[in-house]
Amino acid sequence: MIPGARVIILGRQGAGKGTQCVRLSRHYVVPHVSTGDILRAAVRERTPLGLEAKAVMDGGGLVGDDIMVGIVEERLHRDDARTRGYILDGFPRTVNQASALDSITSDRPIDAVIDLDVPRELVLARLSARRVCRDCGTNYMASGKERQPWICDVCGGDVTVRDDDTPDAINRRLDLYEQQTAPLMEFYGDSARLSIVDGVGTPDQVFARLVGAIEAGRVH
Ligand code: ADP
Repeated sequence: MIPGARVIILGRQGAGKGTQCVRLSRHYVVPHVSTGDILRAAVRERTPLGLEAKAVMDGGGLVGDDIMVGIVEERLHRDDARTRGYILDGFPRTVNQASALDSITSDRPIDAVIDLDVPRELVLARLSARRVCRDCGTNYMASGKERQPWICDVCGGDVTVRDDDTPDAINRRLDLYEQQTAPLMEFYGDSARLSIVDGVGTPDQVFARLVGAIEAGRVH
């Protein structure tokens, strides 16, 4: 085990961040901190945060920076993330969030920022076919031949379309990515922490590229 990998994975919706981050978190034995998963858990549990976030998420919008920074700060200050590190997925998504993250992590700076690059046309096709287990979050691709109801191989939960994978919400999220998140490439590019990794290929190929990029940037 290599302790202390603190990695941010950026990339368009549908680039495969979720799948790859789960693999990276196992590989480096660090927590996978996904803001989307944290928000979806809050929606399921009907907490005040979940009730507030649900309408924004379903419409493909972004939850406010202050709320998101508070959630991430609390999570990164827990013992597992402090001592081992983390794979951060879905945060930061705006330049404001990135500046706040720099302050939160000033004593233990980020090791690597990776842009998992997949063109918009390809992610649009992937998102339209994406199905998700409501209980454990495992992703599937629909071929149209599945038996209904579709049951998750991992946990037996219902596999359905995610509430924000409607055509309107998908387009809104991709537009917001270009407007709000793409500027982070310059933010991180300036400090030479950014690597761009080609996200087109099999999950194994992409995983090998990601590990290669993280190792290339490590100074330990
Ligand atoms: P996707 O990247 O496909 O949109 P996520 O699971 O990362 O999916 O996030 C789902 C939704 O949760 C987003 O569309 C947004 O509404 C909200 N969200 C997640 N992370 C953030 C963030 N850092 N800032 C603002 N909103 C967020």
